[in-house]
Amino acid sequence: MYSTRTRLTTAYAGLLFATMIAFGGALYVARRASAADELGIESRKEAHLVLNTIINAQANGRALTIISENPVSGGVTQPTQAMSEVLGRLPGYFLVLDPQDRLLYSSTTLRLLDQTDQDTVYAVGRALVVGGATATVPIDQNEMNQGLLLAAVSDTATGPNISRVVAGLPMSTARLAPQLLVGTMFLIAPLVLLISLGAAYYLAGRAFKPVELLINEVEAITDGRSLHRRLPTDTADDELGRLAETLNRMIARLQASFGALRRFTADASHELKTPLAVLRADIERAIHPGTGEGDRSVALEEAMQEISRMADLVDSLLTLARADEGRFDLHRAPVHLEPIVRDVNETATILGEEAGITVTLPLVEDGAVLGDAARLRQLFLNLVTNAIKYTPRGGKVEMTLSHRNNNSIAFAVRDTGMGISAADLPYVFERFWRADRVRSRASERGGFGLGLAIAQWIVQAHGGTLTVQSRLGRGSVFTVLLPMLVEAADGAEAPAAGAQEG
Ligand code: ADP
Repeated sequence: MYSTRTRLTTAYAGLLFATMIAFGGALYVARRASAADELGIESRKEAHLVLNTIINAQANGRALTIISENPVSGGVTQPTQAMSEVLGRLPGYFLVLDPQDRLLYSSTTLRLLDQTDQDTVYAVGRALVVGGATATVPIDQNEMNQGLLLAAVSDTATGPNISRVVAGLPMSTARLAPQLLVGTMFLIAPLVLLISLGAAYYLAGRAFKPVELLINEVEAITDGRSLHRRLPTDTADDELGRLAETLNRMIARLQASFGALRRFTADASHELKTPLAVLRADIERAIHPGTGEGDRSVALEEAMQEISRMADLVDSLLTLARADEGRFDLHRAPVHLEPIVRDVNETATILGEEAGITVTLPLVEDGAVLGDAARLRQLFLNLVTNAIKYTPRGGKVEMTLSHRNNNSIAFAVRDTGMGISAADLPYVFERFWRADRVRSRASERGGFGLGLAIAQWIVQAHGGTLTVQSRLGRGSVFTVLLPMLVEAADGAEAPAAGAQEG
């Protein structure tokens, strides 16, 4: 596995190299074409040089003209001796032709070639048109590099015996420039590649530096104990800044849920520890040989009480755990609340009588909700028993069921009890929270602080809200607001417009 930095570097460099090769290739082709053109021009210049030399020589009266019909050579036209001397001093490959395309003069250098090559040059040269295209004669000689590029020129000043001059330059001259280019490219390509590799690696490294810093920071944070730390977000308003902010939000959520989990586990173990210790003491007392029959049954009864307390706690924990997991199946059906509230009122009246508290139900407006009847009953009973638990003798507890805004229904429990202080109010729905732990455990009220958490879960699962208003020493009001089903004309019930569903 290569790092992103390495992969980016290779990709950059590879791309650059491919571009360089493509560019070099295109340049080579273009250069070759233009070099051939330039060579053609150079060949014409050569030919003109020969022409001018002839014209100058004629003007100086040195080699006036070409001897025609030379008897010695058997009727073939030939240059004068003087002309041959002048032309013999000229370098390069050239031919001088007469109007019948016969060879008048062939340059010294050309005459050094093989006879067959000389013949080919003559054959191609005589076919060339003045001012027309150039032609390449293939010659198998290394320094020629595949041949001569021939061009033909003429000038009337040379007199009637000379029709034109054909001059040639070795192709090697034309090939040289593009070859030089390729050579240079081959030389500098590795260098460029090396430099670009280095530059790309450096740039990628710079680009990834903040990412690496971020990774190190995240690694340091996610060891579980440093969740209070946050990533620096001041880097820039770019993708990394946004990533850091997103991660920070995630870490904050993790911190909150880790904290909650830790507290929950600690609280749950603590709550189980006490009844277990009592249970142990009770059983030890019961099995002690010296314990009398009466004491033994008292001890066992106490043990039974502790067991049922623990069973309650485990039951509540299980409910919350399932609720957290979203595994709790609510059996939703249209439920009329009036019968449930009346039933809860009956139970509460009995409990109230035992506690010396008056429980009343002054207002009941029926309404249906889509929900789980058993859970709703548990919810209402929970709030009422709390009201009775936390109201001293002689107090009052009042329940009401009433419509709100046509599409919701409210169940409220008002008591004249001890109330909750403003500082404590935000925590009442937290798991295991109790206004006074020590006292509530010691007294017969002794709940676990899970009732309201479960109540809130039930309300939320029904798409409703649970609110509390309270003043210390004055009493509290717990209000459950649930979305109501409206009765349609045909008697069927549908959720009220605007009501949420849980
Ligand atoms: P518990 O099992 O302790 O009653 P709850 O979750 O039902 O647990 O309640 C949490 C705490 O909220 C209680 O311990 C109590 O301090 C406070 N509380 C709940 N209901 C009332 C109320 N009606 N009046 C005063 N305090 C209340």
